[in-house]
This record gives sequence, C-alpha cells and structure tokens, in this order.
Amino acid sequence: MKNETKKILLVNDDIIINKILIEKIEFLSHNIKILTSTSYKKGIEYIHNNKDSIHAAIVDLNLYDASQGEMADLTLKNNIPTIVITNIFDKKLEMKLLNNDILDYIFKDEKKGINNAINSINRVLDNYDTTVLIVDNSRIQRDLLKEILENMKLNVLTAKNFEDTMYLLKQQENNISLVLADYNIQKNKTSNVALISEIRERYDKDELGIIISSSSEDPHIATNVIKLGANDFIEKPFTKTEVTVRVNSLLHIMQLFKNTRELSHKDFMTGAYNRRYFHSSGSAIYDKARRDKRNVALITIDIDNFKYINDRYGHDIGDICIIELVKLMQNNLRSSDLISRFGGDEFVLLLEYISLKNIKIVCEKIRKNIEENIIKTSNHEIKFTISIGISYGMHDDMYEMIKDADKALYFCKNNGRNQIKVY
Ligand code: GH3
Ligand code: MG
Repeated sequence: MKNETKKILLVNDDIIINKILIEKIEFLSHNIKILTSTSYKKGIEYIHNNKDSIHAAIVDLNLYDASQGEMADLTLKNNIPTIVITNIFDKKLEMKLLNNDILDYIFKDEKKGINNAINSINRVLDNYDTTVLIVDNSRIQRDLLKEILENMKLNVLTAKNFEDTMYLLKQQENNISLVLADYNIQKNKTSNVALISEIRERYDKDELGIIISSSSEDPHIATNVIKLGANDFIEKPFTKTEVTVRVNSLLHIMQLFKNTRELSHKDFMTGAYNRRYFHSSGSAIYDKARRDKRNVALITIDIDNFKYINDRYGHDIGDICIIELVKLMQNNLRSSDLISRFGGDEFVLLLEYISLKNIKIVCEKIRKNIEENIIKTSNHEIKFTISIGISYGMHDDMYEMIKDADKALYFCKNNGRNQIKVY
C-alpha cells in the first residue's frame, strides 16, 4: 500500500543515540511511527504485537538483557530489514554482514555512521512503495532475482518476453520504477536492443531505470546497452550483494532526480506549484482539453487586504495566512487540480472535468471556509477573507482565460471583496 504509515523498531539502551536517531528518522517523513525500547524484553513484545507490520529495525547487539545479538537475530528471523548498533566489529557480525542479512551498522563511538544508517532506512522504506519488473525467459533466473529483490522489500513483477514487458509497463501506467532485463530474452537469442529503445522512446532515464544483465563473454555488450539508454549493466552470474547494491544505488539516484524536479516545480513556502510550472504544465493540460473540445476552469484567488495583515500582525503571520489558504484549497480540491502560486497572495487554479455549477459550489466552499477559519497565535486570533474570479469554457489561449478570471476578481475587489464571481 503506497504511503501507508511505516513502523520502525528501535531497541537500544543509549538514550543519546536514540534521541539523535529519532530526530533524524522523524525528519524523513511524517508517516513514520517509531517503537522505542531499551530492553530485549520490550523489543520482543513489540515484535509480537506488531506482527508483520514493522518495516525496519535498528537494534543494539549488546543489550543489558541480551548481549549476544539476540535482538538482531529475532528481527532478521522475522524478515525485518535490520541495522545493528555495535561497540566492536566482531567475527560473528562480520559473517552476518558478508551474508548481507544486515542492512547497515552503526559503531557506538563513531556517530558519523548514523547518517549512512538513516540513508539505508530511507531507502528500504521507499522500496516498500517501489515496483521493479524482472524480464528474463528463464524461470530459474526470474525466481532467483525475485527472491533477492523481495528481500530488499521491493514489489516485484516478472515478464518472460518483450510483449509481456510492454504490456505490463502500459498496464501499470507509471507504477514501475525499474526494469531488470536479461540481454537475451527471446528464445531465438535475439538481443534486448529493441526493448531498451522501445522503453526509452516513452520514458526518460530518471523516470524508468533499466539494468541489463548478461552472461555473454562479449566485452562490447555493456557499453552498447549503456549507449542505447540502459542505466547500468550487471555481469552474470551475479551475487546477491551486487544486485542489492546496484539496484539500491540506481533507485537512490533516480529519487534524487525526482526530488530535484519536484523542488523546481514548487513554491518553497506553500508546496503549491510555481508560476513557471503552471506555464508549462498548465498549457499542456489546456491544449489537450482544447483538442478534446472540453471546457476547463481558470480561477484566480487573492487574499483581501493582505497588506493590512502584514502591517498589523507582521510578515510571519502573513506567511501563515498564505500557507493556511493553500492547505484549505488542497483539502477542497482534487489532487489532479492544478494549484499554483503566481506571486505574493495571488493564486491561479486550473480545473478539468468539472461543471460550472460544481465550480461555483467548490469556490464558494473555499471562500466560506477561509472566512470562518481562525488562525490562533499566542497574542491574536486572526481572520481573513479571499476573493475569487472564475473563467469557464474554452478559448484559443489559456492566458486569455486567466485575464477574464482576473477581471472577475477585480469586480469582487471593487464590490466589497470576500466573494466569488464568474466572468
Ligand atoms: P487586495 O484586497 O486589493 O488584494 O489588497 P491587498 O492588500 O491584498 O493587496 P495586494 O494583493 O496587492 O497585496 C499583496 C501583498 O502581499 C503585498 C506584499 O507585501 C505581500 N506579500 C507578497 N509576498 C508575500 C509573502 O511571501 N509573505 C507575506 N507575508 N507577504 C507577502
Ligand atoms: Mg490581495
């Protein structure tokens, strides 16, 4: 289930390390619940009470009531990705690391290991929401890879040929993040060149990763597949560690790209889309609607007398009002509706697949919600209102419709504010 709350078990008797870990883990996402304990006894209880619902664990190998790594043995036995905290690098631990059962480790007196461990936790939590497609005509190979990837907590799909692969990519829409394909998938040993090209026609390297594997001795295959658009190449036979490291590091890079893209699209303070993004994405949505002969709504929203709020209560409170407005719009609109901050206290919205009647209803609801909303600070209770201009239909040019919505908005401003108006 995408974006469900993730549970992390933390069993460690060092309160200071726990404090640092909790702070850093909570910073990763709001959707994380940390079950903390300083004893093995309580750790066992947590595992029993949360059957199959702990997503990762950080555990001390040397607890006062279990000093031989019993806690890690238990989490690993329960298939929980585990990071261990340890004083010393002992032989037993080294064996476990070599078997790659353990995700990562933190040395108690070397706090810099903590950041690596947090990155590992972040990766494995993301993996629960990430889908990977294995393409191989050999069932044994598919099963082998499937086991490794499922161990990494990825969701795994499999295909045995080109047609199945293309079908699954289409059927899953944009749900698949990575294709792991053997170089020779067809029975007649034709290579996977077509598959790479076909995928790259539809998806960029940072949208859908491709890793090609091959047992061929031909030294040119690796460079050829990379040139064609694969992200990486793995030689067969591979080890579990090799697959794990390559897949995780590619997914990590892709996530960084995605984050950067998101950041460049959004307004930092509110999380609403910025004007530049509206310009590109809004135009594309608009042009498609025009070709399909559909109506859309362009809506401009502006806070009333916002200068007064800034002057009376200060800029920080002004910021809170803008953030509140975005939250309230998001609560009342669908995730497909485009909300963008054009500047200051002014927003432009693009809504599709909605009737004028329903637009009026939803705009009136937002206006009323804001009017009734009270922002409480230690010294004040602040209220504010908004005006909303609506343009509905279809023009040749999206910006013409924005201008019309603006005209309707000015009408509201000149007519007492705190109201909606259709152009
Ligand atoms: P009207 O009802 O006619 O819209 O009056 P208004 O006072 O709201 O006028 P206007 O929309 O022109 O005011 C925008 C103000 O928003 C001016 C600017 O100082 C302030 N502003 C712009 N960006 C920010 C911001 O990020 N935070 C805060 N607190 N204020 C901002
Ligand atoms: Mg204003």
